This record gives sequence, C-alpha cells and structure tokens, in this order.
Amino acid sequence: MNCFVGIDASTTATKALLMSADGEVLGVASSEYSYETPRPMWTEQHPDLWWQATVESIRRVLAESGVSPSEVKGVGLTGQMHGLVLLDDDGQVLRPAILWNDQRTGAECDEIRQRLGKERLIQITGNDALTGFTAPKILWVKNNEPQIFERVRHILLPKDYVRYKLTGEYATDKAGGAGTLLFDLEKRDWSKAVLEALEIDPAWLPPTFEGTAVTGYISPQAAEATGLVAGTPVVGGGGDQSAQAVGVGAVEPGIVALTLGTSGVVFASTNEPFIEPEGRLHAFCHAVPGRWHLMGVMLSAGGSLRWYRDTLAPGVDFDTLLAPVAEVPPGSEGLLYLPYLTGERTPYPDPLARGAFVGLTVRHTRAHLTRAVLEGVAFGLRDSFELMKEVGLADITQVRVSGGGARSPLWRQIMADVLGVELVTVNTTEGAAYGAAVLAATGVGAFSDVDSACAAIIRLTGRTAPGPARAAYQQLYPLYRDLYPALRPSFNAIARVGEQM
Ligand code: ADP
Repeated sequence: MNCFVGIDASTTATKALLMSADGEVLGVASSEYSYETPRPMWTEQHPDLWWQATVESIRRVLAESGVSPSEVKGVGLTGQMHGLVLLDDDGQVLRPAILWNDQRTGAECDEIRQRLGKERLIQITGNDALTGFTAPKILWVKNNEPQIFERVRHILLPKDYVRYKLTGEYATDKAGGAGTLLFDLEKRDWSKAVLEALEIDPAWLPPTFEGTAVTGYISPQAAEATGLVAGTPVVGGGGDQSAQAVGVGAVEPGIVALTLGTSGVVFASTNEPFIEPEGRLHAFCHAVPGRWHLMGVMLSAGGSLRWYRDTLAPGVDFDTLLAPVAEVPPGSEGLLYLPYLTGERTPYPDPLARGAFVGLTVRHTRAHLTRAVLEGVAFGLRDSFELMKEVGLADITQVRVSGGGARSPLWRQIMADVLGVELVTVNTTEGAAYGAAVLAATGVGAFSDVDSACAAIIRLTGRTAPGPARAAYQQLYPLYRDLYPALRPSFNAIARVGEQM
C-alpha cells in the first residue's frame, strides 16, 4: 500500500496524519505544547518544540496505524504562517520564534509603509503591513536586538524549520512565502524591491517551491529520529489556510472555503493575483501550483457564540442553546449583533472595534439574542464576500463550510440565507494536515494534479440551499453595514476610557 504523511505544526500542537492513496485517513497523532508571552501582546515559541512534537507524532502515527515506513511515499508540510525563525551560519536557532499573533511590531509596520509607500507595498505584495506578518518581525529584531541580527544567516517560517530538520534543506513554499510581506505576489517569489527597501539580504531567504514540488528528502538523521525511511520525498506544502483549503477541495475558482472556528475565514481560490487596493483582504499564493487566493478573516466568529454561551448561559451545550432559536423569526425581530469582540481584521482592520447588540426591546428573549449572534457573524462574513466581489472575483458557485460552527444545521441555514449561495459539507474533516498529505500524494505522482486529487477523494456530505429567509436578510444587511461606521467614533472613545479605568 502507498500512503502519505501530512504534518501540521500549529501554534498549539504538531499533528501527523497518515493518508492512503485513495484518501482514507489511516491515523492521526498530535503532540501538544504551549507558547510563551514574555510581555503582554508578545508570543514566542522555541522551534525545538515543533521538531520534538514532529518526531513524537510521526513515530506514534506509524506505530498506531501499523503502516510500515517503507509504505510512506511522500511527506507534506503545513503549519502556522508568518512566524519568524532566525538561524546562524551553522543552522542553529538564534532566538525563540516570534509568532503570527505577536503584536510588538506596530512601529516597524509604519516603517515599512514609509519605506515603500503603502500603495506600492500593496501593489507588490498584495497586502498592507500587519503586525502578524514576518517582515516587520525581522525589522523589530534589527531595531531591538542588533547583536542577534548581525548573526542572522537564514530566515525560515515555522513549518520550514521542521522541513530543515527533516531534510537538511533550507526551503519554503510559495503560499508561506507570500505571507511574509517580502513576496512579489504576481511573480510568486521574493521581491527584490521590497528586500532592497527593507535592507534584508536576499541570501538569508530560502528558495521557494510550489506546494506539490519536492523540496528535499528525509535525511539519515531524520530517518533515525522519526522512523521514516531516508530518501522519502518532502514536498513544499503550504501555510495552514491554503492547506486547509486543499483539504476540503476548495482549489478551483468559484469554490470558497468558509471556516467557522473560533475565528472565521473566507478563502477564495483565483487564477490570477487579485489585490484589494486598500489591503482589506489578504492576497496570497495558493498551495495549488499557479493559483492564488483572497482571504477575509473575522476574529470572533465561533468565538462570539462561545463568549455569549459562557457569559449568558454557562454550562449549556451549544445544541441546547440553539434549540429555541428556530422559533425566532429571521432578523431576530429587529435585533442586530456586531461580532467585533476582539477588534476586527476584515473588512475593518480595527483593533478598537467592539461588539454590540443594537435594537434591544422588552420583547427580546434569550433566544432572540442567540439568533442575533448567529446572524451577526453571518453578516460579518458576508462583508468578506462583498469585498471579493468588489475586486472582481467571478461568480461564487459553492461554499464549503467546516469548523465547529458548521456542526449546527441552523447556523448553516442562516449562512446560506445571508450569503445567498449554496453551502456544502465534505467528508474530510482533518483540515490542514490532510491538505498537506494531498499535496504530498500529488507531488510524488499519485495524482496528476491537485484538482484531480480533490475530485477523486473529497465527497460532498450535505447541502444547504438559500431558503425563504433570504429576503429578510437582504433587507437587514444594509442596516448591519451602517452600524460600524456609525459606531466607530464611540468604539474609539469607549476603548480609550476602558483603558484608563
Ligand atoms: P477552533 O477554531 O478553536 O479550532 P472549532 O473549529 O472547534 O475551533 O470551533 C469552535 C466553535 O464552534 C465554538 O466556539 C462554537 O462557536 C462553534 N460550535 C461548536 N459546536 C457547535 C454546535 N454544536 N453548534 C453551533 N456551534 C458550535
């Protein structure tokens, strides 16, 4: 039997998934770790954690599934994006990695916009400077830790450190590279102009590969550590979002992946590099060779419902909480909810945005509030769809929904009604690690390309078409849209007062 390993080095765990050549999941093993917050809003993790967890997870998944290492024909990598790993000339880690959710680089983001001009930056890279991205982290180390900076010889992303330990090669994938803010989006490679403007030595950056391209082979040392066979090919893979999209088969233009987890992600594949001129959508390379994607991120999607449940109905499970909601009419009888509990990314990159219930009357019950939360999240996600249409994305024909929130048929129906498009669920629920295994299988020739791989192994398991509530939501959406601009001055003022109290 031929099988493939997908490795996902996330912020909280590294997972190894074993997939058969016909797409069956033969086993999954995960090893957890945590991250450090040396100061408020800083997040760091030592790269050793990912490597140790990779070794443990591969060993465990091989042992538990009974698959012989010689049956593993390829390895694919995915993981947390944007993190900064710095190595010296000998490949030794110079400091803990600075992670995607670290917020220390506000000044460096301003510096990048100033050095390149915001418009030019977005034109080249597809994105505005965000604290999460890699480039501002590099400048932060240069500005604050010069003694470390002068020893830097290699810059890697988290999953590429695992790749380095597995193969001995410095390499990254195009999807991950595009998330550094150092990429020329159209050319799918490092941007000379950006590197020059930021005075970053191009020799420090690894060569870049498409998601299915072989970047190296399991080294004898890695074989000894993991139990895999030396010489097994390791493909480029992709950042967690693009690998997740491959994992649910959102690879062709027209099919959107909607992930309704703690955060909400709207991911659309494109054949060309679309750019939102103000950088309100992320534009990255896809893990699918020659494709790109646009992405909108809502910070508190499922997180809104969780906060609401934990605060107003502690101990109640989600199904029980949502049961009475079906009795409340669409629109919650004039109650609207804004989901900006932790600020927002898309469409309003505003850390000071706040959540709100607007339109409360004495008629409203807890079921109304619950429904309003489900609807508010759906409206907020529609904002990303609208932005994608504005930049010229052709027809969206299908939305593949996954994540915890997709378990609720009622929430799926509300989403379909608000978005006005069919929502489907698929048989593959293992997310990014599964996508990485699919990329590995394709890369070593088990499938002719990613589209055929997805068509062969991913099946639709459910459909939710827009229903009669569509009309009510069409009427309410403009009212929802009016609320953020109207409340923004108040959010700003409230955030300032809140800080002083
Ligand atoms: P994460 O993004 O943290 O990995 P999940 O994808 O598991 O999380 O999503 C968790 C969220 O999914 C919860 O916060 C909740 O909002 C939502 N959720 C989980 N189960 C249900 C359910 N049965 N009905 C509705 N929403 C649910």
